[in-house]
Amino acid sequence: MAFFSRQAAEPVPEAETNVWSCDNEECAGWMRQDFSFSSAPECPLCHSSMRQETRMLPVIHM
Ligand SMILES: [Zn+2]
Repeated sequence: MAFFSRQAAEPVPEAETNVWSCDNEECAGWMRQDFSFSSAPECPLCHSSMRQETRMLPVIHM
């Protein structure tokens, strides 16, 4: 009997997701467009303008 059997974590599904990405190359700021209500947000870290990108990100179930 295995008292400590750990189930393998299910792989998190990923999907291509629209994000805003900071235009400042020295800044790693980005955010999901789903979480942004602005059509032209500024970076929360350095307040640069942001550009649209797609990234493979884990799917969030709302
Ligand atoms: Zn930034």
